[in-house]
Amino acid sequence: MTAPAAKLDCAPYARGLFIGGQWQSGRGIPVVNPSDESILAEVPDATVSEALAAVEAAARAAEGWRSTPPRQRAEILRRCHELMTARAEELATLISLENGKALPDARGEVAYAAEFFRWNSEEAVRIGGEYRTAPAGTNRILVEHQPIGIAVLITPWNFPAAMATRKIAPALAAGCTVILKPASETPLTAYALAGIYAEAGVPAGVVNVITTTQPGPVTAAMLADPRVRKLSFTGSTPVGRVLLAEAAKTVASCSMELGGNAPFIVFDDADLEAALDGAMVAKMRNAGEACTAANRFIVQAGIHDAFVAGLVRRMGAIKLGPGTDAATGCGPMITRKSVEKIDGLVADAVARGARVQLGGVRPAGKGFYYPPTVLTGVSPQSEMRRAEIFGPVAPVYRFDTEDQAVAMANDTEHGLAAYVYTRDLKRGLAVSGRIEAGMVGLNRGLVSDPAAPFGGVKQSGLGREGGMHGILEYLEAKYIATSF
Ligand code: NAP
Repeated sequence: MTAPAAKLDCAPYARGLFIGGQWQSGRGIPVVNPSDESILAEVPDATVSEALAAVEAAARAAEGWRSTPPRQRAEILRRCHELMTARAEELATLISLENGKALPDARGEVAYAAEFFRWNSEEAVRIGGEYRTAPAGTNRILVEHQPIGIAVLITPWNFPAAMATRKIAPALAAGCTVILKPASETPLTAYALAGIYAEAGVPAGVVNVITTTQPGPVTAAMLADPRVRKLSFTGSTPVGRVLLAEAAKTVASCSMELGGNAPFIVFDDADLEAALDGAMVAKMRNAGEACTAANRFIVQAGIHDAFVAGLVRRMGAIKLGPGTDAATGCGPMITRKSVEKIDGLVADAVARGARVQLGGVRPAGKGFYYPPTVLTGVSPQSEMRRAEIFGPVAPVYRFDTEDQAVAMANDTEHGLAAYVYTRDLKRGLAVSGRIEAGMVGLNRGLVSDPAAPFGGVKQSGLGREGGMHGILEYLEAKYIATSF
């Protein structure tokens, strides 16, 4: 007997905009279940003046929060972790419903997202400073780290919980107050978490959440308020570029987590089964809708055919279906537009000579599905060589020499994640060092870890989230030249 699909009434999560600790009801943005195209709930569509009210609420709460003792802030963050963990199944079902991802992926996301609160509760009490004698011997150099100020946080739909907590937890640990604008496709998780923060003791106005169909004007208005000193954005590189220009007007500090185009390099000497295990995680976690997703499999000639055969076998065994069905391994894409984009990339590759080894045909019927697909012989001129596929499509490219592999890996404007499989540790470390990426998985298909610095180089972003670096994005060094 198969387990029944998880069910949840989503209406209670659409209580309204969350401003100054109050829910302000409204409607205007339907939240679509990508598994069957039904409407799950409708959330408010904030205007510019409502966004400015959220900035005002964050400003009113700022002094109280920054002067709250770090230990007290830490304990509140710790309670956020505990409440999220206690409600993990409810949150995972909600994520699966509004995003479409398979339940095991959604459960993984909740654990990952909650961990940012635990990690940052530990960081909140360890914000350091410096005390030195100036080289001239005339005075002391005193450096303390102060909260940067009000932060505007903008997040995408692919990790509705984790992309929010990866920003909110360090911001709160640092003593900042925030306004979160989640993606319009997946606002319910953000609102569910807002309720949890309040229950955990986060004071009114410290976290505000607004949804809007006008992200451009709303964000511009918030950034124009001189009290907003931080913009932290996770999303596509084109929108990141627009926001960097917008933030320049008030010289607001920016953290940018942008798009990726991850190479996944497999050398002839790699452990084939381990490489396939890693490939499945790097490609199929979140059905390929991850910024760290392997976008280009770059495989050495001697292992190429065996790797392709293994990939086809494993990807072919994945069941496509609604995210909340217990048997589903690959849920739907987020929107019909996403499916059309993926379909277009595959069609372009095939028109340029690629061979379809698996999948490649959209199923008919309701829901935004695209099947696990493997392509070989993909031309370097294909659009998918440069574009973020953001779906369950694995193009496999062939290489002969190490230099070729590195050159292919670096042939992109992006530099977020990369993966390298080899049994030769010396070569693995050398290649990891030569690849232009912020993160490398060496014989590992998963790099995300709240205890490690997450972020990209080149046009994949600015700054780091997680690890000891995450909280620094919300702090500013103040230097006091001291004579006594
Ligand atoms: P997106 O279109 O850039 O949207 C991201 C967020 O920005 C959403 O909240 C969106 O709001 C908002 N937005 C859109 N236009 C805006 C504007 N002009 N001003 C202010 N905000 C604006 O990206 P997406 O399609 O949601 O997410 C996928 C992308 O995110 C991929 O490129 C992926 O690689 C990247 N990503 C990166 C990381 C990382 O850590 N580097 C992690 C996850 C995802 P609406 O929803 O209302 O349009």
